[in-house]
Amino acid sequence: MEEYTAQRRVCIVGAGLVGALASVYFAQRGWHVDVFDTRPDPRVSQDSAHNQQRSINLAISTRGITALKQVGLGLAEEVLQAAIPMHGRMIHGLTGHQSSQAYGVFGQCINSFERKRLNISLLDAAESFSNVTMHFGYTLRACDLDQGAAKFEVRATGQEYVVTVDLIVGADGAYSTCRRQLMRRTRMDYSQTYISHDYCELTIPARQNEHGEQEYAMDPNHLHIWPRHTFMMIALPNKDRTFTCTLFMPKEQFEAIATPESLLAFYQTHFPDAIALIGRDQLTHGFFANPRGALMSVKCTPYHYQDKMVILGDAAHCMVPFYGQGMNCGFEDIQVLFRILDELQVTTTVPPPGQAKAVDSQWHSQMQRALDCYTRTRHRDAVAICDLAMYNYIEMRSSVVSWQYLFRKKLEDGLHKLFPSLIIPLYTMVSFTQIPYHKAIERHERQTRWLTRGLMGVGVVTTAALAALVRCYRK
Ligand code: FAD
Repeated sequence: MEEYTAQRRVCIVGAGLVGALASVYFAQRGWHVDVFDTRPDPRVSQDSAHNQQRSINLAISTRGITALKQVGLGLAEEVLQAAIPMHGRMIHGLTGHQSSQAYGVFGQCINSFERKRLNISLLDAAESFSNVTMHFGYTLRACDLDQGAAKFEVRATGQEYVVTVDLIVGADGAYSTCRRQLMRRTRMDYSQTYISHDYCELTIPARQNEHGEQEYAMDPNHLHIWPRHTFMMIALPNKDRTFTCTLFMPKEQFEAIATPESLLAFYQTHFPDAIALIGRDQLTHGFFANPRGALMSVKCTPYHYQDKMVILGDAAHCMVPFYGQGMNCGFEDIQVLFRILDELQVTTTVPPPGQAKAVDSQWHSQMQRALDCYTRTRHRDAVAICDLAMYNYIEMRSSVVSWQYLFRKKLEDGLHKLFPSLIIPLYTMVSFTQIPYHKAIERHERQTRWLTRGLMGVGVVTTAALAALVRCYRK
């Protein structure tokens, strides 16, 4: 068992994207931070398993970037410099025809970034603080929440390691052990939904131009989509001029493709232009050798137990990846939590012996107020983005090619350009602002009502004008 220091102690379970950034926030406020992760340190480990169950790259947008900006340390600048801006979707039709749809009317973009590199930058930033200690190869097994104790199994020795702290932060991802511990001590409402679609990642290699230089095989400043109504493939650019493609498809359809011949026939029918881009051998190798991932959505509440534990990121709200918001939302969780802690002026120093009891109990009740407020504030936004992510799968794989969608997008974009703060498209609110997710949905519904009424009004006036014209003509 370890002893308390003069600083409040926090134990962060999970050194993934959210855990690593959270450790920077805690360190900056002066907490004594211990970070534990079951995996080996990605900075020294050659173990490719670190990336195996997750996407190789991901899109970071305004919410994520703002959370990085808030810590300073040049983190946001570093990420943006190494990221590839994607200004819109590039839709690939069946004939290979490509059409671009801008994300925002003011040139906004989302940014493609390598997951592992982002994780390493965050871990380096966290370790630059002397009050942060990282422990890799430590798996959380159980917690005694009332005592603030977390029990780990040390992979190297098989021994138990117990740490006692003021606060346990669960950032241990979709299959969170912290969440399970929380369930035992709170009346947690919980739902978990697997969608029937799996995903598999493939690579479009760089190609050589006439000068022998490596170049992108497609426009790198777009997120490429091959929408095929009941399934789709997407591709995001990487810095090494390759693209990472992700094929999303019903599990049964994956299973029905059992031979290289049937795979090529499938691609020939649905993604003919992608065969040349990926290459026949790479395609068959990637499809049969790369892991398949399942996709699920998790909603739960509360996110905390008294003043002892809080869960953040995928541990609290895992969503399907179709809005590119999982990590962005997780980063925003941290920002929201710290806004509340700062507003309530939760201190990080342990009172000196003598005044300990009164000050200590005040601290605990203040911390509990902060965590109560966090669950209350964040839950409706987490639910909203989980729902939006689910809805966006239909938009990406099907709606983007329907005339109704394209008409509404044109209309909304035009109105947004004219009245930037009155009409804001939903995608813009989610990806390029920090409007709380649940408010974005409410506003989108309001705008839909206005647009529908407006269009009906235009329809009535046009019909009346046409009828008047016809009457004049007949006279
Ligand atoms: P994780 O990244 O899962 O990290 C959890 C950490 O906890 C891991 O390091 C794990 O080893 C550790 N851990 C787990 N259990 C224990 C234990 N018992 N003890 C100790 N350590 C433990 N989001 C976006 O914002 N943009 C995108 O473009 C995007 N694309 C995606 C594409 C795909 C295909 C998928 C699947 C997800 C995508 N996401 C995207 C979502 C994003 O990956 C997650 O939201 C994000 O990784 C969540 O971070 P996290 O730190 O909460 O969890």
